[in-house]
Amino acid sequence: MSSPNSPSSLVPPVSGTKNRHRRYQEGSLVPERRKECSHERRTRCPHCVWVYRFFAYIDAKKIRRKKIVGTVEEFPTKDDAKRACEHLRMSANTENPQRKTTIRGLIDLYIERIVRPCMSVPLGGVQDPNARMGYSCANNYRGQIRRWIIPRWKDYLISDFERPEIWSAAEDWLSSLRRSPENPTGLAPKTVRVIFATMGQLMKFAVRWGYLSQNPFAGKQGGERRIDPPRGSTKRLHKAAQLTPGQSFQLVSHLSLRERAAVTFAAWLEPRGSETFGLKWQDLDLTAAVVRFQRGFDLGRETPGKTDPSNTDMPIPEEVVQVLREWHAATPYNRPGDWVFASWVKKGKVPIGRYHLIRWYVQPIAKKLGLPHVTWYSFRHSLNALAKECIGKEERQIMLRHGRTATEEGYGVVSLERKQEIAGRLWTRMRERLGDDMIRFTNLLGGMTGDDSPELEADANHSPATEPSSDRTAVECSVEQNREPMLARLEHERRSATARKAWVTIRANRVKKSAVTSRSDPILTLRTNKEIA
Ligand SMILES: [Zn+2]
Repeated sequence: MSSPNSPSSLVPPVSGTKNRHRRYQEGSLVPERRKECSHERRTRCPHCVWVYRFFAYIDAKKIRRKKIVGTVEEFPTKDDAKRACEHLRMSANTENPQRKTTIRGLIDLYIERIVRPCMSVPLGGVQDPNARMGYSCANNYRGQIRRWIIPRWKDYLISDFERPEIWSAAEDWLSSLRRSPENPTGLAPKTVRVIFATMGQLMKFAVRWGYLSQNPFAGKQGGERRIDPPRGSTKRLHKAAQLTPGQSFQLVSHLSLRERAAVTFAAWLEPRGSETFGLKWQDLDLTAAVVRFQRGFDLGRETPGKTDPSNTDMPIPEEVVQVLREWHAATPYNRPGDWVFASWVKKGKVPIGRYHLIRWYVQPIAKKLGLPHVTWYSFRHSLNALAKECIGKEERQIMLRHGRTATEEGYGVVSLERKQEIAGRLWTRMRERLGDDMIRFTNLLGGMTGDDSPELEADANHSPATEPSSDRTAVECSVEQNREPMLARLEHERRSATARKAWVTIRANRVKKSAVTSRSDPILTLRTNKEIA
C-alpha cells in the first residue's frame, strides 16, 4: 500500500492558483467490514476496522485516500478511533495546522514520520547510513515517549505549551520524576535529562509543522528557553567503574578464551561497545597488526560507524594480536566474512550479545575478584584515564576516534604511522604500569598463576600453566588445550538456548490460552452504528 501520509504526497504543487488556499478537511471515519465478518452492513463486530478517508493532493489532482486506523476490538467507540487517527487528520491538513491538536496527535505523527522509518530495519539487517537517527536511538525515543510522556501529557493541547503555567507544570513534573529522599524509586538524573531531550525533540517538530510558535525546551537558559531541566540532572549518579591496568589484567587472566579476547581487545584499544562486536575477521589484519573499524552492531542490527573519524584504521598491540590469533584458531567461525565474536547459538549469523557476554561471563568473575562493577564502557574509560598521564588531548581524541578531531585538524586524515606512534607511547605506559611479570602472564595462554584461581569456575576452561618456550608453540598448544572444553561449552550454550526458546513458546501459549478463555463474548460488545451516532 502506498503511503498517503508521506509529506511529499501531501505537499501541493507550487504552480496553479486553484488550490492555493485549501480548506481544512475533517475527513471521515467509518467502520468497514472485513472478509471474516458475516453480519449485516450497518452493524459492526470486533473484526471490523475503522477506516479514515481523506483527500490527498498530488500533481494538482485531488485524490481519495484511505487508511486503516485499527480494529473495532482495539477502538470500541468512534471517539476512541477518532483520538487514534488524529495524526492522520494532521497529515491530511499539513497546510492548516489546527489550534485544537493534542499532544497525542503530535506524538503519533512524530512516531509515524520520524521514528518509524528509522526503525524499519529487520533483525540482522543493515541500517541505512542516511537515516535521521540510529535504530537504538529511535528505539530509546519511542520508549521514553510511551513510558513517560504519553501518560502525563497525551490529553493536553500542543498550544498549551505556549502558556507559562504549563511551563512550570512541566518543570515540576520533571523534578518529580527524579530520585530523591521523598521518591527513592525515582529515576536517575541522567534519565530525566533524556526525557527532557525527548520532549524537546517533540516540540521541535511541533514548531516545524506549525502547531507552536517556538520550542519552550530549546534555546539559552533565561533566554528563549522556557522550561529548564531539573538542577544537577547532568550529573552521573554512579561514576563509571575505572580499572587500573593491573586490575584489568587480573580480570582478563581469569576469563576463558572468548571473553578474554573481547576484554583484551576492549582494554587495549578503547573501542565503543558496539564496535567490538561489529568486527568481522576481514577487518583484522593480524600480520600488519591493524584493525579497521567500519561498523557497529547494536540491538540485533548492523549500524554504520558512529562518525567519520570513528571509521578508521587503528594499530593493535602485540598482546591483542596474540589473543586474537588464539581465538581465530579456536572458533568455528573464522572465515573472513564471519563475525569475530559470533554467536554460537545463532550459528554464527550474528555476533553474540555484548550485554549478555559481560553480564554472565565477565561480571560474576569481576565480583569474585573484588573488582568494581565493569561494563564495556569501563574499559574505554580506564584506558583514557591512563592516556591522560602520557599523551596530549588531541592525541587522546585520535585514540578514542572522537568526532571533533577531523574538524579541528582541518579534515586532515591522521596517518597510520602517527597513530602507531601515539598508541605506542600509550601502550608502553600501560606495560610499565603492569610490570614485567604481568605482561608475561597475560601475553600467552591465560596460564594460571593467581593464588585464588582454583576456586573460580571459569578456570575449568583454562589450560594449566605452562612455561612457553616460544610464542608460536605457546599459541599452538593453548589452542589444543582450549578446543575440547570450548566445544563442550558450545554444545552447552546451544542446548540451553534451545531450552530457553522452548520455555518462551510454552509460556506464550499458556498466556494465549488463558486470554481466550477469559475474554468476554465478542457478541456482547457488538453495537450498531445507530447507537453510536
Ligand atoms: Zn465485522
